[in-house]
Amino acid sequence: MKWLEVNASCSVCGVALLENEGDPWAFVVLLDRIFVLVLLGVVYFKLGPPTHAALITVFASVIAVFILTTPNRFGCCLAIAYWLRVR
Ligand SMILES: [Zn+2]
Repeated sequence: MKWLEVNASCSVCGVALLENEGDPWAFVVLLDRIFVLVLLGVVYFKLGPPTHAALITVFASVIAVFILTTPNRFGCCLAIAYWLRVR
C-alpha cells in the first residue's frame, strides 16, 4: 500500500484484500467523523485553549494528524471490511 493506493491483493500470500472497490468506504467515512467530533468538541464544548492563536494551532494539528494518518485509516478500514467478509 502506497500513500493512497490500495493493493487489491497481498503481495506475499495473494489473499484478496479488496473484492469490491466500495466495501471499505463506509468505514472510511465513519473513521473520518472522529476528527470532526474532536474539532466539534473543541469548539462547541469549549475544550480548547482560550486564545485564537492556540485554537488555530489545535485545528492545524488535528488536520495535520488527519492527513498524515490517512494511509493508516485506509488500512484499518480495509481490515474491517476484510474481517466482515471472511468471518
Ligand atoms: Zn498476505
